[in-house]
Formats: sequence, C-alpha cells, structure tokens
Amino acid sequence: MKWSWSEYGERFEHPSGILALMDDLGSALTEGGPDLCMLGGGNPAPVPEMQEAFRKEWTRLLEDAEELDALLGNYDTSQGQPRFLDALADLFNRHYGWGVSRENIAVVNGSQSGCFYLFNLLAGPHRSGRSRHVLLPLSPEYIGYTEQGIAPDMFRAVHGKMEKTGTHRFKYHVDFDKLIVGDDTAALAASRPTNPTGNVLTDQEVARLSGIARERGIPLLLDNAYGAPFPGILFKDVTPVWEPHMILSFSLSKLGLPGTRTGIIVADRPVIRQISSMHAVTALASGNVGQSLVRSWLANDRLLTLCREVVRPFYEERSQRALRWWEDAFDDDVAYEIHEPEGSMFHWLRFPELPFSSRVLYQRLKEKKVLVIPGEDFFYGLSEAAEEQEQCIRVHTAMPADVVQRGIGIIAETLREMDGA
Ligand code: PLP
Repeated sequence: MKWSWSEYGERFEHPSGILALMDDLGSALTEGGPDLCMLGGGNPAPVPEMQEAFRKEWTRLLEDAEELDALLGNYDTSQGQPRFLDALADLFNRHYGWGVSRENIAVVNGSQSGCFYLFNLLAGPHRSGRSRHVLLPLSPEYIGYTEQGIAPDMFRAVHGKMEKTGTHRFKYHVDFDKLIVGDDTAALAASRPTNPTGNVLTDQEVARLSGIARERGIPLLLDNAYGAPFPGILFKDVTPVWEPHMILSFSLSKLGLPGTRTGIIVADRPVIRQISSMHAVTALASGNVGQSLVRSWLANDRLLTLCREVVRPFYEERSQRALRWWEDAFDDDVAYEIHEPEGSMFHWLRFPELPFSSRVLYQRLKEKKVLVIPGEDFFYGLSEAAEEQEQCIRVHTAMPADVVQRGIGIIAETLREMDGA
C-alpha cells in the first residue's frame, strides 16, 4: 500500500534536523557496544539515594492493596489525581504564597506533551487572521520544542547577548533591546535552567520578561524541567514565582522518574481547563505511578529536602569535576569557552576556531564512540544566523566518572587532530 500522509504527517516520514539526530543517536546507542561514551542524551543520572527512596516508596505501594488496586485499575481524571493536585497546591502556597488551588494544576504525560499542548493551544492560525508565534527570548533554546508546532514556523527567537565571564567562560543574557513583542506574538517561552546551555535566567530577567508579558496580555511560559523547586538541578538560588499570566511547567523526569512520564502544568484556571480537555481528547488521562510515588513527600516537604540535599549536590559535584577535566584535557592549546554551568546536566562548549561545523565534529566523535549533541539545531527561529551557531556542542556531564573523563579526553584529542587537518 502506498501511504499518503497529511502535510503534518509528512514531517515525520523523512525526519530531518532534530528527529534525524535522535534516530542517529538511538542507533549508535544500540550498536555502540560497551566502550560507547554516551554524553549525548537527556537521561537523568542514576542518583543512588534517590533510587533507594523510590524503591522504598514502591515497596510501600505494593503492600497497600487498596492504593495499588486504585493505581493499576483506575483512570485518573484528565487533570490528575485530586489528592496529588491538592498536596502540590498546598506545597506551592506554603513555600511561595502563590495562592493556587487544584484548579490551577494539571498533570500530563511528561512535560514534553504539556509543552506541545500549550504551544498549539496558543500559537498558530488565529481568528485575527494572522498566524501567531511563540517568542523565545533566549536562544539557543531546547531542541525538543522545534518540531512541536502543528503550524509550521511556530517559533521566533532572540539570540542571547554573550558576556565574557572568565578566560574560558561566558554567559548568555536576554537581549531586551532586540526582544520585539508584536500583535502576532502568542506567548514568551523559556527553559530555566536552559537546555542546552545550563544558563539560569536571573530573577531580574524573569521579572522583566513577566512584566513585558503582562503588559502585552500574553503568557510567559517557564519550563522548569531542571528547575526550582523540583528537581532543583540549579547551582544558584532563585525564587520560584507564579502569577496568573505565567504558565509553569514541571517534571518528575530529572528527579529520576522519566519512565513514569509525569509532567505538571501550573497556570490560570482557563488554561488548565483547556489543557485538561486537550489531554482528555488525546490521552484520556495521565499515568499515575509518578504521582503516587511522590505524593506523600509533598505534605512533609521530603521532596524539597531530597532535591536540596541530594539531587542538587549530586549534579553540582558532577558539573564541577567535569570542569576540572576540561581544563586538564585542553591544557590551553585548544581554543574553547564553556557557558557558566548554572544548572541542568549539561556543559555547553564553544570552539571559536573550529575548522569545520560542529556536525562534522559530531561525526568524527561518533566514529570514536563518543556521542555528544552538535549545537546547530538549538539555534532555530532566529532572523539571522548566530556567529557561534556551528561552533558549539552540548555534553552530558553527569554520567559515570570513567565515561565522562574518557569522553572528554577523546573530544580534546579529536579537536587537536582537526586543528592539524
Ligand atoms: N523541557 C526541557 C527543557 C527538557 O530538557 C526536557 C527533557 O529533556 C523536557 C522539557 C521534557 O521532559 P519530560 O517530558 O520527561 O517531562
């Protein structure tokens, strides 16, 4: 049979960009063998204390017949488990005074699908006759948004202003002079910490973005997949804020539960009603294992304690040790800059003298069994190419020591070879 896809369907038939890259990473992973250095994916690292805590909670659930039967045998409401929603609203109110209730929260199957719902609920063809876009104030930005718009070209982005912060360090800031919000801007959106750079928008930047969004009557969407208060993979203190024009997205994935597919959206009630309806149509309900595993940790603040005392120090230590390994491996004879690692599981490296594109570097590294993510695909939605667009890679630095250190050594060796090529 010859299949005939819709225009939207055709996008998935011959994957390009990020989809092609994901296929490539997937096959390298299955064919790579034991000496593969997987520094490319977005999997959380196994954190022993978290694994232990999840196993204990899992055992408790197994021994509670009533809870287990409900967990396995019932569909949740399309908004989530009422007891989970109440406990989470209570946590946000106790710690941050947001004044939210269960009507402000929806649980979805992973924050990835939550972002898909939100972008498509807000942007695309509009009754005004114009097609509206989502504006990303700080590019480079999360690769996983690129293909999410059902309408084509849904994202516009503003390249971050680069501040030199040390001999081999830099940091992106929002370039407010270039942030033009038009009548066709449906929303502002940013990940915090940013995937891929590990940048954390400052409280001042968030306040300013929030002010612009409020004034223009559009939402500011902040994706906290690595952020505060959970999983808390950020290495500086920030204040979690919410106001009715803000939409916050959270996830249990980077806490160590990606397999449970639990994403959480906090927003004004009409937004939550829209998400729940869309979720009911596309998925009926969410998986409830993640909610059941962490629910009892909401009321007694154990979740926040674990994030503060276990998750954050774990990732911070891994980030710091990788910084030392980069310094040793490059030994000042390779031109390189690292984005200030302020959060997430990644380091973002720029090689200003790279003689080829970072895609070529990616291929060479793959031949040597080191997988990273080339930077190009994170620079979508820009009106003109960024200077460093082909000079960057994203490296997962929270993998086991031998894998990260060996991978860093091979990256340095490959750059030296390419320099002489
Ligand atoms: N947002 C960001 C910035 C991410 O990095 C990820 C996953 O890597 C997601 C959202 C999606 O996470 P999940 O669907 O597992 O909640």
